[in-house]
Amino acid sequence: ILQGEKFQFQTEVSRLMNIVINSLYKTPEIFLRELISNGSDALDKIRFQSLTDPAALESNPSLNVTIAVHKEQRTITITDSGIGMTKEDLQKNLGTIAKSGTSEFLETMSGDKADMDLIGKFGVGFYSVFLVADKVRVRSKNNNDDQYVWESTAVNDFTIAKDPAGNTLGRGTQIVIHLKEDQDQYLNDSHLQELVTKYSEFINFPIYIRRTKTKTVESKPVETSKDTSKDDEDDEAVVEEAKDEDVKKSTPVTVTYEEDDLMNTNKPIWIRDPKTVSETEYDEFYRVLTREPDAKSMAYSHFKAEGDVDFKAIMYIPSKVPKDLFQRADSVQHNVKLYVKRVFITDGSSEFLPRWLSFLRVVIDAEDAPLNVSRETVQSSKSIKSIAKHLVKKMFDLLKSLSQDEEKYADFIKEFGTSLKLGALEDKSNVKKISRLLRYHSSDSDKYTSLEAYVSRMKKGQKDIFYFTGSNVDEIKQSPFVESLLARGYEVLYMDDPVDEIVLSHLNNFEGKSFQNVAKSDLKLGDEDEVQTEKELETKFLPLLDWMHATLLNEVEKVRVSNRLTTSPAALVATDFGWTANMERLMEGQAKQ
Ligand code: ADP
Ligand code: MG
Repeated sequence: ILQGEKFQFQTEVSRLMNIVINSLYKTPEIFLRELISNGSDALDKIRFQSLTDPAALESNPSLNVTIAVHKEQRTITITDSGIGMTKEDLQKNLGTIAKSGTSEFLETMSGDKADMDLIGKFGVGFYSVFLVADKVRVRSKNNNDDQYVWESTAVNDFTIAKDPAGNTLGRGTQIVIHLKEDQDQYLNDSHLQELVTKYSEFINFPIYIRRTKTKTVESKPVETSKDTSKDDEDDEAVVEEAKDEDVKKSTPVTVTYEEDDLMNTNKPIWIRDPKTVSETEYDEFYRVLTREPDAKSMAYSHFKAEGDVDFKAIMYIPSKVPKDLFQRADSVQHNVKLYVKRVFITDGSSEFLPRWLSFLRVVIDAEDAPLNVSRETVQSSKSIKSIAKHLVKKMFDLLKSLSQDEEKYADFIKEFGTSLKLGALEDKSNVKKISRLLRYHSSDSDKYTSLEAYVSRMKKGQKDIFYFTGSNVDEIKQSPFVESLLARGYEVLYMDDPVDEIVLSHLNNFEGKSFQNVAKSDLKLGDEDEVQTEKELETKFLPLLDWMHATLLNEVEKVRVSNRLTTSPAALVATDFGWTANMERLMEGQAKQ
């Protein structure tokens, strides 16, 4: 047991450790994923620092993670030459949780309603080590401090002391994991190798397993004295001796030595030729990128761009809309990872994508970019704008090809239809393109339709695109307005998303056809005969209309004959400049918030 200063874990940490241990005990191996990725993060940090301060690397120039097993002591040691931690870092990073929202998260996770998905998303991090360990010792050396040791058995407290061994690491972090009694499987070489391979495949630094090996070497030939042959009397003996030495010469000697076996032999997936990357590798990489073990993507695009900035990128559309997509503040978006020449720069780069595309997951590796490495210049740089433009273009290509497959595209619309509509509202330069990608429910079939397809089916003489709004398709179908238009053979778009109406008024028209809400009073069907009949009816029913208007004076603005109803006797409509019922509902909802 380490002698040193004692610290209590923050209550949240203790709680998190409990949740981790109680909910993830079936997959204890994830500690390897977490510790390897921490090593990789630490290596990213020191390499980033070295871009402006090359001397930072001198304390330990080779950048890697090495994993070693000691069977007798029943330990696994994971050593990285990353940025390391000062004493203060150890105390803070391995004793508290800095992430915002942790407390709320822990509240929802307490008890037995632990949601594995959420835990996976949250990233259980370092503390997952206690899934397999009953004692953990962390030595760490940062360039700004001496080497310190942190030790804990996960029960309430941890100890920190200056390392009595001195600054042995040069720079980096070494974690010694004392395995619990029932966790011997990690001492098994081939099992460990399998897991480490799995979790290091897409790590951008070499990950080694250090092995103690034996090899057989020939002993050095023994010098025989040339004088002995001169002594005739001792001939026999000399021969004997010579024989002995011959035997010695060929005796194999077994020596033990240590060797590091590289576990991740592939180049980073994004800089590889797409032809050499398999579907499975893209899927695997997506899981690593999102740090969600079950995450799937709906579609991806892997491409190389040349122009103002040369870069390679992989862009993924997730299979499900992220729960917090529209709540996320810009500052916490981690959907674009930026590398410059394989060096990780940042993953908070929301400036690469317009807001409505923040559901995408992208890795960019800029080649010879005039990108400056500081985040501030990244943000204002011209090259960023050029990359951003390219990404958006590629995204449209991807969606276009996705839309060839009706079923797949319907999935996309279900998940990201609202994002597209947000794009139609926000992205002025792309409104046209976006409007072609929009899909709506329609009276034509149960499938989604594009506006283009609607226009191609329009009746002769029909000038406008008809739509009706409501909170769901069934409700819309019940509407007398819709019923009447359908009876006349018109197709009606069913708008069931609260933003639809705003989007349409923003689009104003699609290829010259304007949008007509069939609930508005002066709907024109573009049918000459109808206009005639309407006028005749109006004269005929004038007394009734006058009486109704007088009776309902305080409720309605106007009472008129309509050609728009078939089986329903009457309907309430909004005026052209008034709000539709749906809009009123929306505004009411807003007012309540
Ligand atoms: P996260 O990696 O999501 O921040 P972790 O629990 O995995 O959460 O790690 C907590 C913090 O501890 C990290 O953010 C980092 O500052 C520090 N840390 C953990 N492992 C290492 C390491 N090997 N080298 C340097 N710092 C580390
Ligand atoms: Mg981590």
